[in-house]
Amino acid sequence: MNLRTPDKRQEYRVRSYEVRKRILVTGGAGFLGSHLTDRLLEQGHEVICADNLFTGTKRNIDHLHDNPRFEFMRHDVTFPLYLEVDEIWNLACPASPIHYSHDPVQTTKTSVHGAINMLGLAKRLRCPIFQSSTSEVYGDPAVHPQREDYWGNVNPIGPRSCYDEGKRCAETLFFDYYRQHQLEIKVARIFNTYGPRMHPNDGRVVSNFIVQALRGDPITIYGQGQQTRSFCYVDDLIDGFLRLMASEPGFPGPVNLGNPGEFTIRELAEKVIDLTGSKSQLVFRPLPQDDPMQRQPDITLAREKLGWEPKVQLEQGLQNTIEYFDALLKA
Ligand code: NAD
Ligand code: UDP
Ligand code: UDP
Repeated sequence: MNLRTPDKRQEYRVRSYEVRKRILVTGGAGFLGSHLTDRLLEQGHEVICADNLFTGTKRNIDHLHDNPRFEFMRHDVTFPLYLEVDEIWNLACPASPIHYSHDPVQTTKTSVHGAINMLGLAKRLRCPIFQSSTSEVYGDPAVHPQREDYWGNVNPIGPRSCYDEGKRCAETLFFDYYRQHQLEIKVARIFNTYGPRMHPNDGRVVSNFIVQALRGDPITIYGQGQQTRSFCYVDDLIDGFLRLMASEPGFPGPVNLGNPGEFTIRELAEKVIDLTGSKSQLVFRPLPQDDPMQRQPDITLAREKLGWEPKVQLEQGLQNTIEYFDALLKA
């Protein structure tokens, strides 16, 4: 078999997943972590989910309660963790501005001490480790779209800094462990992702707009709604995660994972109103400090190295997410 082309290599590596592994997912009770856990269990692996339930919820993993290959462990990653696993996925960290600015010191600790502890664990076990980094490392970007070699434009002392700089420092640690201790690392820079199991109250734009539309409340546009974001559906993102972890050992990333389709926030509001048939009105509120004006991933590297690109259109993804929130609000 020719393993040199990404597709062939991918095929081979995905098949190698048929070997059952013990896998640690930190932040596994959160939005992305619970979807990742589902996919790893579907592949036949054992999953240990370590989560302090700060923003995650047992509701996201309730359906796994009877699965003998799943284990939940209430644990804060700022403390050391000693267990034996074959692979680590480090997702633990509050991700929405409301949550990460609630206790900014704890947010930085989670990114930095959490990374040190998980890297220390990976170093002892000599096992691969994945880091969920973020497009926020680019800050309010001065180049557009953002490629991985752009160093970013981040305010080090602003209200978003605990998250942005925490994640930047975590990347530094990952790359230092990679160079200094030859760890196998995989760093993904995730762009705005949405889908079922997002928090209804975390203030992120997709969940806010859908919940407001379903309740018939005013849709709150910050600023004039001309700022842009690129929205990736969760299933596409998790596919990218798995491909990154399965990529050649010498490829540490960082690699952008996101959907390059770019929409203004106003366009998003209009799509949500259309799809829900809501009578909600648009209202305009002040733009938060340091809110990036545009954000769009350049996913050339992910296409080349992972053979990955998102497939789910915004309308389809929004429809699935609306169905989830509709059921949640009626429950
Ligand atoms: P989430 O808030 O749903 O999940 C984060 C999980 O981490 C939660 O279950 C929470 O309880 C847990 N957690 C927080 N602090 C912890 C700690 N100290 N110890 C143990 N567990 C802790 O958010 P998400 O959207 O699923 O994000 C998952 C990861 O992906 C985060 O690292 C986030 O920074 C990153 N990310 C997400 C997005 C996105 O659009 N969703 C974008 C960029 C990066
Ligand atoms: N660590 C952990 N589990 C392990 C091994 C290490 O949580 O199985 C933590 C521990 O808190 C340690 C950190 O990871 O401080 C970094 O480990 P490393 O070996 O890199 O550094 P050191 O132990 O020398 O501080
Ligand atoms: N936003 C908005 N109304 C809301 C929530 C968010 O207009 O009710 C805007 C926000 O100002 C930002 C964009 O939507 O420009 C995306 O916000 P989110 O918090 O989802 O993600 P991030 O800013 O981290 O990309």
